[in-house]
Amino acid sequence: MDDLSAADSSVLSGKRVVLDPGHGGLFRGALGVKGLTEAEVNLGVALFLRGLLESRGVQVLMTRTDDRDYLTPADSTLRGDLTERMRRANAFRPDLFLSIHHNADARGAHDVNETQTYYKLGDQGPSLDAAQDVHRSLVRNLGIETQRLLPGNYFVLRNSAPPGILTEASYITDPDVEARLALAAKERLEAEALLIGLGHFFARRVPVVESFVASRARGGPADTIFDEIPAPFLAARIAGAFTTGLASGIASTIPDHAPLVAVRTALRRSMVRGAAPCAAACPVTRAASATVALGAAPDADRGQKR
Ligand SMILES: [Zn+2]
Repeated sequence: MDDLSAADSSVLSGKRVVLDPGHGGLFRGALGVKGLTEAEVNLGVALFLRGLLESRGVQVLMTRTDDRDYLTPADSTLRGDLTERMRRANAFRPDLFLSIHHNADARGAHDVNETQTYYKLGDQGPSLDAAQDVHRSLVRNLGIETQRLLPGNYFVLRNSAPPGILTEASYITDPDVEARLALAAKERLEAEALLIGLGHFFARRVPVVESFVASRARGGPADTIFDEIPAPFLAARIAGAFTTGLASGIASTIPDHAPLVAVRTALRRSMVRGAAPCAAACPVTRAASATVALGAAPDADRGQKR
């Protein structure tokens, strides 16, 4: 087990996290061969994690703390249950949303086990950061060889206002896994692995946009009046951690706009972490208003600014 000091209070204190133990009440989730339900395992792990986080000064909201759903006489659908969970989650204004699940093999196999971590589809900024940190810790500490980090198009992730991730740490349909997950000590171990991942995520340095300029050509003199440049080359200097893979991936197709993507990512992260984007470190005061058009095509950019 990794040292829990990676998640000390200095990094975590004051953060706001929503823990969403998947399923509950009418919804049992995946089922082990001996009858252990995913709903109870998800809750067990989440309750341990809540304790670990709260003792480090984190404000935690759980979407449920017992075996319940959010069905009402007026709405008895799964969609209704999930909508109410996400209403509660978003109203808490968290820094991160974490949905805890355990998987089932769709074909009924009992020898399939894998660690999967999903990040909110389309957010290759903080959601991907969080997923990478949590996934690495789950893989290291649970030791399941097969593992994948994936974008997830799940209702709870799509509807999470803050960065969101969903973990499927293991397959409850594997009888060995089921036997382990029935033990409180193993649920706690998973909670500790999640805690360490969250500690790494919140320890990431907030990216700062140090400069953001438009020019008529790559490397040309800066021009802050974007409207007067027909196809501006936008460039940014960003200090801090951001996904270089994202910028370089985009750069291969639309090189001039790679910095734009990096700026957008950095701005999002800066805002997510509660820092003013472009505060003292950003000399271009129009950078903040330029976020309106970030990521759009050059023509659309100019249209929006007029
Ligand atoms: Zn589930």
